[in-house]
Amino acid sequence: MALSEGERAMMHDVSTIETNTAEPSRTVSHGVKSLVVLGLLGSVSAVLGLVTIGPSNDPVGMGAAHASPAPPPLATTLLSATEFEPGLGIPDHLSDTLKSRETLTELVTRLGAQPSDAAAALHTIYEKELLDPRRLRPGVKADAFITNGQLTALNIKADAERNLFITRSASGGWTASELKARLSPTYHRVAAPIETSIYEAARKLGAGDQQVVDFASAFAYDVDFQREIHPGDTFEMVYETQVDEHGTPVKSGDLVYAKLNGRALTRGFYRFAPSDDGVPDYFDENGESATKFLMKTPINGARLSSSFGNRRHPISGYTRLHKGTDFAAPSGTPIYAAGNGTVERASRYGGYGNYVRIKHANNYKTAYAHMLRYGPGVRAGKRVRQGDVIGYVGSTGASTGPHLHYEVYVKGKPVNAMKLKLPTGRKLAETPDMLAEFEARKAEIDAIRTAQGAQLMAATPLVNPRSP
Ligand SMILES: [Zn+2]
Repeated sequence: MALSEGERAMMHDVSTIETNTAEPSRTVSHGVKSLVVLGLLGSVSAVLGLVTIGPSNDPVGMGAAHASPAPPPLATTLLSATEFEPGLGIPDHLSDTLKSRETLTELVTRLGAQPSDAAAALHTIYEKELLDPRRLRPGVKADAFITNGQLTALNIKADAERNLFITRSASGGWTASELKARLSPTYHRVAAPIETSIYEAARKLGAGDQQVVDFASAFAYDVDFQREIHPGDTFEMVYETQVDEHGTPVKSGDLVYAKLNGRALTRGFYRFAPSDDGVPDYFDENGESATKFLMKTPINGARLSSSFGNRRHPISGYTRLHKGTDFAAPSGTPIYAAGNGTVERASRYGGYGNYVRIKHANNYKTAYAHMLRYGPGVRAGKRVRQGDVIGYVGSTGASTGPHLHYEVYVKGKPVNAMKLKLPTGRKLAETPDMLAEFEARKAEIDAIRTAQGAQLMAATPLVNPRSP
């Protein structure tokens, strides 16, 4: 919600997969036969990246390194599976990635397999539902092992965690197995000054879209990202990440810590799911939820054009109290319900033009004026949830141009929405057991931060250390 359209567009761009259009690479050269076999095995284990072989009930291989017995030596497995026989010739290993509008069968055929062999081998993984051919994306890597023009084994790197290995048996049938990468969970901390946007800075340091979105939603109630982020403000994120045996991050997970240190505010949030309700949320160091009763601004991408307070009215010319906050925004920009509540009025209201007023709990009301039109189904009596679109920016009523005039009332009195001390969401202090749980989790996260921040403090403050 706090990201601009431009940032959303960027997110979309960066998530597209690049297609490798390079020619197939030949990794086995002709030479002394034993060396070739060793070379082949070497390249296969590089492809598989020290994986566990065969059926495994360990979902992502976490913690398997120490607990489970060593997997059978890869060489033995491969030799018995592919039944290399002396005199049959030298297997060629070719690999390439799927191009757009290419099928896997076409790719494997392009690598040198007979189309019927390619189709039969791939059929095994489709049949076992190890791969959905309709969901394939360009960039999927295939390794084909071909002996005397015949496909003997095929490895498909389905995703960051899974290799599908298909081998031809002596009888000519095909056997498929799923090989899961042995991933270890770890945490990664990034911290930096903000030059243009948090999105750009965080992406540059390796964080993913999801971490940035989580960060923005944790702060959505406190900070207006359009107006209150200044060059030189700093941010910090700690997020879960899974690394493979080579320490290469293969996927990132939850943002567990988010901190903003800026002109507008300095605050940090810890992700925590209290065991009593199991609902994960971001809590500050005192155990207060980041989620607030009302959003700070009920609109994205707008510019604050007139503040609450006494001013000369642009139309009447009289000086009087401006009871709300004006946000200039293009006509048609969606306006959100600042909090959960019931629509009290959604109709024309004199100089306010098209007007919506919402009644919230705790004697709060919010009002939205000069709308172009109302949101879907918005009328008196309708229950709305925080973030629902209740209307669109316009210039109806006594207005000099498209803007949202936004008012907050507490017990019937207009208050400055920008300076409002808002009631917060859950306070863990009210449930001492949950507060104790939170303190334990917070200590863990702080230990991670300290461990990764120690490097950070050394010579060049606020420069990101690489993943461990
Ligand atoms: Zn106004």
